[in-house]
Amino acid sequence: MTDRVINESSKRITCGYNGYPGHKGVDLGWRQDENQNKVYANCKGTVVEIQDGLDRVPGSSGVKSWGNYVLIKHPNGMYSRYCHMKKGLLVKKDQEVDENTQLGIIGDSGNTTARHHHFEVQTGYSSDTRIDPTPYLTKAIYVELDPQPQPKPEPAPAPSNDFKVGDKVIVSGYATSDSLGGGSRTAEYNGTTDTLYITKITDLTKPRPYHISRGATLGNQDRGWVAKSQIKKA
Ligand SMILES: [Zn+2]
Repeated sequence: MTDRVINESSKRITCGYNGYPGHKGVDLGWRQDENQNKVYANCKGTVVEIQDGLDRVPGSSGVKSWGNYVLIKHPNGMYSRYCHMKKGLLVKKDQEVDENTQLGIIGDSGNTTARHHHFEVQTGYSSDTRIDPTPYLTKAIYVELDPQPQPKPEPAPAPSNDFKVGDKVIVSGYATSDSLGGGSRTAEYNGTTDTLYITKITDLTKPRPYHISRGATLGNQDRGWVAKSQIKKA
């Protein structure tokens, strides 16, 4: 996993959370190579506070002690704060940012004794909600949820069978000697209103799956096979 906030941040901890009483962030060391001193947002969010233009303010407390800082609100209501950066921050208040947005460069502004980055994470706006930010050196504070899975299309309904063996039906067209549609014509029903019985039903994917008989049971004056479109309930 690629580290966040600064390059290889998880390897650059110089003072951990609660490393001394009241230290509610994690300190990350600077490097000679200035490319390694770029500070990035942890993840998607909005810049809600900025303080810029400060040099070192030894002995300061409160907001000033953070020096040049950026406070970001993330979409899940958590906050991250990036402190002691060099003058000339690279983002503005209300700017939308993400993990590819550089906020500034590691500096020594505010109450510091040496150049370093101080990173904090809060579960809410108040500083009283600060938590150990160490896990967020290697993971996003806010993880975008996957879009709602689309409902799967309904499977095509199996061929429905509105008829059952024993139904009394009126037939049109003609019946044949087999259910595949070939075979000889075994009975003609155009224009008739004779009542017949369904006496057998075979595979509904066949062209003529319904067997009809004059009598109510198979073998009782059988007439042959017809298609569904040829029958209606009597
Ligand atoms: Zn610190």
